[in-house]
Amino acid sequence: MQKIFSLLFGVLMLPQLAMAVGVHQHGVAQLDVVLEPPMLTLALHSPLANFIGFEYKPVSAEEQARWTELQEQMLQARLQVELPTSAGCSLDKVVLSDPFVEYFDDHDHDHDHDHDHDHDHDHDHSELTVEYQYNCTQPQQLKQVQLPLLQNYPGIEKLEVRMLSPAGQHLQSLGGQEHRLTLP
Ligand SMILES: [Zn+2]
Repeated sequence: MQKIFSLLFGVLMLPQLAMAVGVHQHGVAQLDVVLEPPMLTLALHSPLANFIGFEYKPVSAEEQARWTELQEQMLQARLQVELPTSAGCSLDKVVLSDPFVEYFDDHDHDHDHDHDHDHDHDHDHSELTVEYQYNCTQPQQLKQVQLPLLQNYPGIEKLEVRMLSPAGQHLQSLGGQEHRLTLP
């Protein structure tokens, strides 16, 4: 059974993930929820503007402070996601992408190749991706997930959720006022 599920995961989920990464619309964010017991993974993809109001590499000290604060908040899974205690989930790993890493690299000017003149336009829009990986001793108790992140960041007006679990694949859309995700 486990093998069959893994096969489905490979076939069905990859195009979904690719699609989620490709979307960039301010006010909208995507959440990929994958339950492959005992592992639960939540991956949030969102335009950076939804959190800090800008998407360029921080320039002023105030912008740098906002960006640093956001990263610190995102690393604290407990502030963003609340799982039912009965599910016995422990946080294994948090993976936070830094959209400006490539930017810094490109401006080292240590590379041999020439840069396009319109190169900076590639950075007009930046995405933040954070992934929370849990290990749950009672995954069958995962009936719902609270998402305080929607209260923390009202810039996310709509959250498009894609869920993949042994029960199948489900799509759900949450408005900014709804903070509870129901798992199939
Ligand atoms: Zn943007």
